[in-house]
Amino acid sequence: MVLYQYLKGNPSPSKWMQEARDHDAMKWLGRGYVPSRTAWYNFRDRAARFIEQVHTQIVQRAVDEELVDPTIGVQDGTSIAAAASRHRMINRSTLDKRIEILDAVIAETFTEETPNWVPPTASGRLDLRKRMDTASEVLNQRIQANAEKPRDKRKDPSKIVVSTSDPDAPLGRDKMKVYRPMYTVQLMVAAYSYIILSYLCEPSSTDAGTLAPMIDKTKAIVGDRLQEVHADCGYTSILDLKVCRERNIQLIAPVAATPSKQKSAAEKIAREDFIWDAQNNCYRCPAGNDLKYLDRGRKQRQGGQFIWESRFRSNPDDCQGCSLLAQCLKSGATRKTLKRLEGQELVDEQRQRMTAPAMQKRLKLRGQTVELAFADAKGHRKMHSFHGRGLARVRAESGLLVVAQNIMRLDNIEKKRANPSQSTA
Ligand code: SF4
Repeated sequence: MVLYQYLKGNPSPSKWMQEARDHDAMKWLGRGYVPSRTAWYNFRDRAARFIEQVHTQIVQRAVDEELVDPTIGVQDGTSIAAAASRHRMINRSTLDKRIEILDAVIAETFTEETPNWVPPTASGRLDLRKRMDTASEVLNQRIQANAEKPRDKRKDPSKIVVSTSDPDAPLGRDKMKVYRPMYTVQLMVAAYSYIILSYLCEPSSTDAGTLAPMIDKTKAIVGDRLQEVHADCGYTSILDLKVCRERNIQLIAPVAATPSKQKSAAEKIAREDFIWDAQNNCYRCPAGNDLKYLDRGRKQRQGGQFIWESRFRSNPDDCQGCSLLAQCLKSGATRKTLKRLEGQELVDEQRQRMTAPAMQKRLKLRGQTVELAFADAKGHRKMHSFHGRGLARVRAESGLLVVAQNIMRLDNIEKKRANPSQSTA
């Protein structure tokens, strides 16, 4: 009954209750069973504990019956708005004030008029108090993370905010560039059959660091039959390429071009024109001089990981008389400095590999596969925003939707197999 409701685009347990009473299809599916409103809500909350297992069983059965070929997986992520208003995000000082007021209201010592944001019922107030504790913890973590950033990338701490409706939801920009609380859902879809092999719903506003967990999740379901992963340029960081090498996965994904903002208007010589000499651990510039190793530092990456970054510098005496000086150096600079991340050769190798015409052709498979799953979720199943609040509930909702989509597709594949002349597309 719930899966049918997800396919109809109804993620609300309250709506499920109404439909179970009023609609023949729901009555038929429930065989006369009409659960209470609380039972529907409780079921949605409990689903977080078993839905992954249900998903695994469905995919494994489909692979065993050769309905799905899991050799090629296509991964991408999409942001889905959290059930929280983007207009009600508060900073540290407002949160502290509100906690004080709410405590006074709960203790019945608040003498002024009760503010609008305080729930009218006692249970609602206690529930909000709990969310405020979580919000306080999350806000502390965000302030701490901000303090650890380089000085030029740090925000004013008073501008760091949290949502009290859904404190777990990170803040980020959605596809319409609107800054809001949201979650990111990752899908690994089997090429050609469009079955979702694995999914991940994370409190994150970007795709960074999700390739490794998705490959591991997919392998836990289909084993070593997964051999190739297609993705976009957001999944070709050095850490991603290392992950694929370690797990023996062929990654078909383009490498992002070096952002143009890294080059000033005066610098006309591209970074790619500097040749890397691995043997001597230096760069060779277009004028034939060496940029020697200077030092190295740690660069922080998603999930507490880090990567070493080395710096290489040219000799100012070489640059002074160089005919390329005007195109090579920033105005006022006397020598060239280049940075190189440990493992950069993996990115260079991937960039080179993806220039082959055969690879360019294969890149089209990504858009034709995983984007359809997102289009179906958002267009037909109306999954523009989550209905429940909190990470456990949004994970349950993502799992229920994925299971519903998979069952529908498997039904189509089975029908097509039984009657090849009547393709259901
Ligand atoms: S300016 Fe310096 S680094 Fe640049 S090409 Fe000339 S010698 Fe090489």
